[in-house]
Amino acid sequence: MNVNDSEHIGGLLQQEGLKPVSSWQESDLIIINTCAVRQKSEEKLFSLLGRLKPWKQKKKKTLGVIGCVAQLRREEIFAKAPHVDFIVGPDNYHRLLELIKFEAKQMATNWHSDWYEISALPLRASQSSAYVTIMEGCNNFCAYCVVPFTRGREKYRPFTYILDEVKKLADLGYQEIHFLGQNVNSYRDQASGKDLVDILEKANQISGLRWIRFITSHPRYFDQRLAKAMASLEKVCAQLHLPLQAGSNNILSLMNRGYTREEYLEKVAMIREYIPSISLSTDIIVGFPGEEEEDFQQTLEMLEKIKFDNIYSFRFSPRPRTAAAKLEDNVPPETKRQRLLEVQARQKEIQSAKHKTQVGQVMEVLCTGKSKKDERIFSGRNEAYQVINFAANEEVMGKFVLVKITDYGPYSLRGKMHSFVD
Ligand code: SF4
Repeated sequence: MNVNDSEHIGGLLQQEGLKPVSSWQESDLIIINTCAVRQKSEEKLFSLLGRLKPWKQKKKKTLGVIGCVAQLRREEIFAKAPHVDFIVGPDNYHRLLELIKFEAKQMATNWHSDWYEISALPLRASQSSAYVTIMEGCNNFCAYCVVPFTRGREKYRPFTYILDEVKKLADLGYQEIHFLGQNVNSYRDQASGKDLVDILEKANQISGLRWIRFITSHPRYFDQRLAKAMASLEKVCAQLHLPLQAGSNNILSLMNRGYTREEYLEKVAMIREYIPSISLSTDIIVGFPGEEEEDFQQTLEMLEKIKFDNIYSFRFSPRPRTAAAKLEDNVPPETKRQRLLEVQARQKEIQSAKHKTQVGQVMEVLCTGKSKKDERIFSGRNEAYQVINFAANEEVMGKFVLVKITDYGPYSLRGKMHSFVD
């Protein structure tokens, strides 16, 4: 979501005649887009602001902080870093240009009930793959999560705006779309009642597009209609991120996730019935307040039962204003650390075993980047959203290629390029 926001803001600035520079030292304007999901990224912001102080003291430099930490820590940022010129929360990016132009310090962190579009063409990093926001905010109030306090309540982008953007992207040659939102499967167009399935069905008909993805889905709202649509719409990838967070019912209930482990397993079984080849990834939090060894073992058990294709795992850290921040953070740091290592080690084995079975397969890969260490090595993602590295030349950037898998590691696959996809 932040990458997408930054691309839109880059577009706004470019429309105003600003140009990107290759190093921050050369710039006249720095805007730091922040994430508040974990404490660590907040700490990083304050240390970065300290490091930027000498730069800011030079003539005519402007420094802004935007995003979720800006929303959450607005007073603290101005108090700790008085060299910051403006602070803008996620619901106010449409006002950014106006705020940058002021000489005095500016802050915009109020909420708007309407949907505001940034009309400028985003400055996208990729020429082949694009994010398209469909909603923002969240009404779920999971006990650990700060998002409802930083992005506000759910707001849905009008259906016609979404489709118009997708059509424009397809006309520009984009072949992959990621529909974005904190809670995409609760999307409802306020005028027509259309939902995520309607978006997928319409996008599937747009010529030029090849792959359609969406993130993030809440397990509670993931229903048969969506699974059926994923199975029947040929451009919608067989790939899904479905955050589990914890494997014990006790912890899931404390987290206010709105499902039990049994219900989550049923959803996975239903999804796999419709889409047997589905690639599933998830989020796991270890060390949530009250997590006993037995609860943690149940999380490991879920990894074993489901065999996710990828996981994003974190240690619990209390976030301001959340319900969990009021609970006693009673899992010792060392236990959290050990549990995280254990989760990651188990998952590493699961992924290695899965990747081993893929050696010899030929797969379509959308090439999106290249190695910083070796300019002959390019990388991309397959339909399952796995990372594939292969030797090639510049011609492959942004293209679909066929790659034969020759080797694997726990986090990526390696292969030999076969040919371009027609
Ligand atoms: S559903 Fe996701 S974004 Fe919403 S509160 Fe829960 S974790 Fe946060």
